Amino acid sequence: MAYVISDECIACGACAGECPVSAISEGDGKYVIDADTCIECGACAGVCPVGAPAQG
Ligand code: SF4
Ligand code: SF4
Repeated sequence: MAYVISDECIACGACAGECPVSAISEGDGKYVIDADTCIECGACAGVCPVGAPAQG
């Protein structure tokens, strides 16, 4: 399952730069992950200050 960013996201943008496949983009008030692109590496979860990304 791809990772999903919860509503806890504060839109800091840290995760987007860490994603090796550029699956993360800025959405409406928070960042979002393209499920079809995510390779489930977990890098986004590792850098997020609020623990918003989790395996969906
Ligand atoms: Fe990108 Fe990895 Fe996060 Fe998926 S789990 S969105 S591939 S950083
Ligand atoms: Fe949102 Fe966390 Fe990504 Fe920052 S690192 S944009 S808080 S999901």
